[in-house]
Amino acid sequence: MSDYITSDSHPSPTTTGEHPISTTAERHAVTAIPGAAPGRDWVIVTRGLRRDYDMGGEVVRALRGVDVAIRRNEYVAIMGPSGSGKSTLMNLIGCLDTPTAGEYWLGGVLVSKMSDDELARVRNKEIGFVFQTFNLLPRATALHNVELPLVYAGVSSSERKRRAAEALDSVGLGDRMTHKPNELSGGQRQRVAIARALVNNPSILLADEPTGNLDSTTSEEIMKVFQSLADHGQTVIMVTHEADIAAHARRVVVLRDGLVSSDDRRSAFAAKVGTESAH
Ligand code: ADP
Ligand code: MG
Repeated sequence: MSDYITSDSHPSPTTTGEHPISTTAERHAVTAIPGAAPGRDWVIVTRGLRRDYDMGGEVVRALRGVDVAIRRNEYVAIMGPSGSGKSTLMNLIGCLDTPTAGEYWLGGVLVSKMSDDELARVRNKEIGFVFQTFNLLPRATALHNVELPLVYAGVSSSERKRRAAEALDSVGLGDRMTHKPNELSGGQRQRVAIARALVNNPSILLADEPTGNLDSTTSEEIMKVFQSLADHGQTVIMVTHEADIAAHARRVVVLRDGLVSSDDRRSAFAAKVGTESAH
């Protein structure tokens, strides 16, 4: 991990093509056959994923049969109106929740049937999560916040400090390690959260509305961090309801009423919604 945000050194559009996105036909082939183990290169495969919330008699059908396939190194935005099921899907992908029905394969392993303990283990190893509200410990320094996942992973104190410092360095916060969240700007707090999400070297970085609490300039700064991570081969899945933020991803999945309503390359998505493609 080094230099995720070396401001002006982002690869040009031609070099970002080195991690091509999957095609519709490839995705269809991998989601079409229930029960078939996908190759490990498909980091995420869901088939007919459903999540009902039982609200004391009334059932909310948040996801009604979602088929999604995401290959390693893809940078995907998930969009859709409020209530369409974006967070529900992210929580399932992030192993924070289990589906009512359907399959979820993570790195070629069926996790939809795992126990909570097994899920927790997979989550700590494979998933880095970034939230809209940062979710940092208010009294802990940036360094300590970033160290936390390593505490749970049983890493020694000196090794924790070394890796947390490296992760903070990589998001441009090498000079803010001893600051507490209230001594940092919103953008800096979100970068601490990104460093925390990355410190375990997760196979997938998930972000649910990561710029939802940030102004547009700071949002662009955070998007540069994501862009750089994606250019370095990090698999990134980001929820947003802002088209100009989604236009940073290489692929845009749109949810509507708990179902996938479209799944396009960024360029096709941008043409549809009239968003200028930023990269
Ligand atoms: P989004 O993130 O796209 O706004 P959500 O996934 O949060 O949508 O919600 C999808 C639907 O599920 C909504 O109708 C929401 O009210 C409902 N929902 C989400 N979480 C819960 C929950 N914990 N209990 C009951 N209903 C929920
Ligand atoms: Mg949400």
